[in-house]
Amino acid sequence: MLYIVATPIGNLKDITYRAVEVLSTVDLIACEDTRHTKILLEHYQIKTPTTSFFQHNRFAKGNYLLGLLKAGKNIALVSDAGTPGILDPGYNLINLAIQHNLEMTYLPGALALVNALVLSGRPAHEFCFGGFLPQRSGARKNQLEKLKGYACTMVFYESCHRILASLEDIAAVLGEREITVARELTKKFEEVLRGTPQSIREKLAKLKPRGEFVVVI
Ligand code: SAM
Repeated sequence: MLYIVATPIGNLKDITYRAVEVLSTVDLIACEDTRHTKILLEHYQIKTPTTSFFQHNRFAKGNYLLGLLKAGKNIALVSDAGTPGILDPGYNLINLAIQHNLEMTYLPGALALVNALVLSGRPAHEFCFGGFLPQRSGARKNQLEKLKGYACTMVFYESCHRILASLEDIAAVLGEREITVARELTKKFEEVLRGTPQSIREKLAKLKPRGEFVVVI
């Protein structure tokens, strides 16, 4: 059985009793980064062996894990933070397991985009998640142009290195509309900024942006 297990996106208490139980009792935990997951496992005194499953070993390690699953082992799949399969290599293992008709289930939990969407107070009955915007300004603006006609709420992930440049492009392409930028969700320095792209950009530029960001438009 493959258990796809959501883990906290910051606050280590954001995990379910069931997730702790499953992580404690499976044969192996496949982690995006074993050192990162070790912090969570130590916090809950979970002694289960771990193995890495990440972008660059996803094919070879995927086949190895598939063999274990076929041999009847129970494996938990976790990402660095949040829900496996959402912008991390977890997707590859889930897909492989589906192709081989293996049994799986998902233990729900943290997902950064949901925290930001809820805190934005924007209509969430229809929303579009755009993952990360392209890294280069030209490609980013093209992508935003394509989304311009969307009537629904849009959610993007962004890094501290590109948030200022992205906000500038959002203002240039989508205009000075009200948006929400959430950072460090569930962590000590959680912050939710509401305003126009330029006003938020100015606030962030003064502090030199740090942490992880979600943008809701
Ligand atoms: N699987 C993750 C999830 O469930 O949300 C997403 C992985 S993605 C590679 C990492 C991005 O998620 C970060 O760059 C950031 O945009 C967003 N993110 C993750 N944790 C966050 C947090 N605590 N606060 C704000 N954004 C976060």
